[in-house]
Amino acid sequence: MHFNTKLVINANREANEAGDVVNPIHISTTYEQRFQKELRYFYGRGENPTREHLEKTLASLEDAKFGLCFSSGQAAGAAIGSLLVPGDIIVSSSDIYGGTHLLFKEFKQRGIDVKLSPLTSPTSVRRLLEQRVKVVWLETPTNPLLEVSDIHEISTICKEKGILLVVDNTLAGPVVQKPIHLGADISLYSTTKSIAGHCDVIGGALILNNEAVHQRLFEYRTATGGIPSPFDCYLIQRGLKTMAVRVEREVETATKIVHFLETHPRVEKVIFPSTHNGIQKEIVRKQMAFPGSIVSFYYEGNVERFLDKLRIFTVAVSLGGANSLIECPAKMTHRPVPEAHRKQLGITDNLIRISVGLEDFRDLMGDLDAAL
Ligand code: PLP
Repeated sequence: MHFNTKLVINANREANEAGDVVNPIHISTTYEQRFQKELRYFYGRGENPTREHLEKTLASLEDAKFGLCFSSGQAAGAAIGSLLVPGDIIVSSSDIYGGTHLLFKEFKQRGIDVKLSPLTSPTSVRRLLEQRVKVVWLETPTNPLLEVSDIHEISTICKEKGILLVVDNTLAGPVVQKPIHLGADISLYSTTKSIAGHCDVIGGALILNNEAVHQRLFEYRTATGGIPSPFDCYLIQRGLKTMAVRVEREVETATKIVHFLETHPRVEKVIFPSTHNGIQKEIVRKQMAFPGSIVSFYYEGNVERFLDKLRIFTVAVSLGGANSLIECPAKMTHRPVPEAHRKQLGITDNLIRISVGLEDFRDLMGDLDAAL
């Protein structure tokens, strides 16, 4: 089955008495054991058919064996910590989501060390992988500077050294890029973003092939309880059906917005994966089917006044929804990142990040034009 068909059909083919086209939402917290031919369902925190349908669909999108859904992207990320013990080291991209910085702070309190580095060159990644490194945590494209790392090259190095490669694929999403296909061990998603796609549900997921790692993560989730509700699973499943068409439209509009911004006198520099140069361009070509729907740019002017004038874009954090969102990372998503680290990366107070949604591109460009 092809990717677009899996989005719509995969989870609907389970036999059910009425022949529902849409999966039923199983709200029961507990299950009558007598009625089960094979005893599989005990208690909703551990097992739930609606959640399992979603997990099956998500895993199938990267042709992986397992999917595990969590109550948020952060809960999915926190579960990775359960694979580590004090003294272990995570090597991570330095330009990452602000909330991941907070998560790493929590890991550090439990004795897990985190080393941040650009990870844009496989040679420099190899140099960082000393014996205590147990996880490489990539965000590619990075957030908000959209730099890319070569997932396949890095996965080859990690495999050689027995290190787990986790790719936070939230920003790209599975339409744009499939980390498991490229050699990653775990794809991490905030399903809150392009997967659910409507800014109306928070969720997270891990996709993977390794049975032992899956078992450990499953036990961790059952023990700590960070599950999404059946209704949330339904909303995420519903969002998935339109994900590919949404993303393709968003990419089209984002590309038009990039061309518009590139020639605007108040815009210093535009960042978008399809306009990268040199090795970065080559990596985009190799691993991304589309450049995505996130655009960053440096504005030459008063950022607060600019944001205040917008009427179609919503000034808000998050991304991947039907509504176009705009934000200033230094003041919003990346506020938890220490100022010196932000400056060093280039996350300055005049950097703006856009998540392009589904509105008519003429209205979006008109809105930007008037505010710029
Ligand atoms: N990873 C990335 C790249 C994100 O952008 C986000 C949220 O914005 C998360 C993880 C955390 O996801 P959630 O908000 O669903 O917990």
